[in-house]
Amino acid sequence: MLEDSYGRRFHYLRLSITEACNFRCQYCLPDGYDGPPNSAFLQLEEIQTLISAFAQMGTSKVRITGGEPSLRRDFCDVIAHAAATPGIERVATTSHGARLFKDGLRWADAGLDQVNISIDSLDPNQFASITGQDKLQQILKGIDLAVEAGIKVKINTVLLQDFNANRLNRFLAWLKKTPVTLRFIELMETGDHHEFFARQHVSGEPIRRKLIEEGWQPLLREKNAGPAQEYYHPDYAGRIGLIMPYSKDFCKSCNRLRVAANGKLHLCLFSEQGLDIRPYLAQGDVQGVKQFITEALSDKSVSHFLQEGKTGATRNLAMLGG
Ligand code: SAM
Repeated sequence: MLEDSYGRRFHYLRLSITEACNFRCQYCLPDGYDGPPNSAFLQLEEIQTLISAFAQMGTSKVRITGGEPSLRRDFCDVIAHAAATPGIERVATTSHGARLFKDGLRWADAGLDQVNISIDSLDPNQFASITGQDKLQQILKGIDLAVEAGIKVKINTVLLQDFNANRLNRFLAWLKKTPVTLRFIELMETGDHHEFFARQHVSGEPIRRKLIEEGWQPLLREKNAGPAQEYYHPDYAGRIGLIMPYSKDFCKSCNRLRVAANGKLHLCLFSEQGLDIRPYLAQGDVQGVKQFITEALSDKSVSHFLQEGKTGATRNLAMLGG
């Protein structure tokens, strides 16, 4: 099992397979994606080598992210490879969900267990204004289909002062009957968006207090769960989670490592640089990847230091997957 010098154990790989995205979220790629094509990013054989190496070191969960992972033509193959790797027990993806209705069942057939879909607003106009895409209804249809098909669905909602911070009741009304877990994520500062962050960042703490007041109860965290504290309520089909990266001790429960679509290992979402493992991946060298990662891990720092305004080399989260 991979362990760092602070005793944190890593059984969760977040693998970005592309930097490209066709949404233009105001806090991520407001001007759209203008980078290399998918052919420049990790290829299937490299991905296979990578996941095998991680699995042999105790990784049991892989999340396929991006950019927008469903923009890759071989997305189903990536899922299938991850699901077929001995030791990998759960395969998840994070997606904007625009292709969920059309392709979600094929993803599940390939071995996908869970989708996290990003929805920052349940108001179609506001959704379009945040993402640059008028696709909320299409995405909600995809979610209904995924839920019916038994795929575990989580929703990511980035808290934004001028958009959704005061719309808790609308989300609650939806969760009354919709069996998904919706996680409010505090906006994180990234290199491209210091001003947007200063205007829009809002703490999740008032929401947490309101939930407790209204009878929501905290759930125990599973072994390979993310950093969300989740809550349930007997009157609601859905659950709510809060991800508060600026809270004290947030990094103490860190259990994930990241590999960007260009084959760089990131010990933290906000590290200063990625460490290039692509030469090993290109050669199919599973042992080399394992050795590299084991040695690199001793340099993982105790915290992201985001609260000090240090955003590392991360200009936006499409670069390496949120
Ligand atoms: N394209 C996919 C999607 O739309 O979910 C996956 C990539 S996206 C970068 C992953 C997640 O990161 C999304 O839920 C997005 O809302 C979140 N995200 C992006 N930038 C963020 C930021 N600055 N702070 C917090 N969350 C952010």
